[in-house]
Amino acid sequence: MTELELLPLCDVQTALTPAEHTYLEDLPDPAHEVVAEQRCDLQRSHAGSHVSLGQESAGTSWWVVWGAEGERPCTREAEATARLYQMEDCPA
Ligand SMILES: [Zn+2]
Repeated sequence: MTELELLPLCDVQTALTPAEHTYLEDLPDPAHEVVAEQRCDLQRSHAGSHVSLGQESAGTSWWVVWGAEGERPCTREAEATARLYQMEDCPA
């Protein structure tokens, strides 16, 4: 893959709440350190909510999902009460 084929990232950031940070830090067998300032991993100008990989723990990925400024996060849940979502496999 050449550099020209790399699409720019969305790069929108969100800060984890203390509760979210603690939750991710307390997961067993963490793959990396929890980053307080999460950065969207999707392509620039993507539709829907922003998504960032918060932590990988014991074969499970934990994603942080948040909506654009002033918007509710749009997820499969009718109403998102939390921003942390667990997925067995990478959704990419
Ligand atoms: Zn985004």
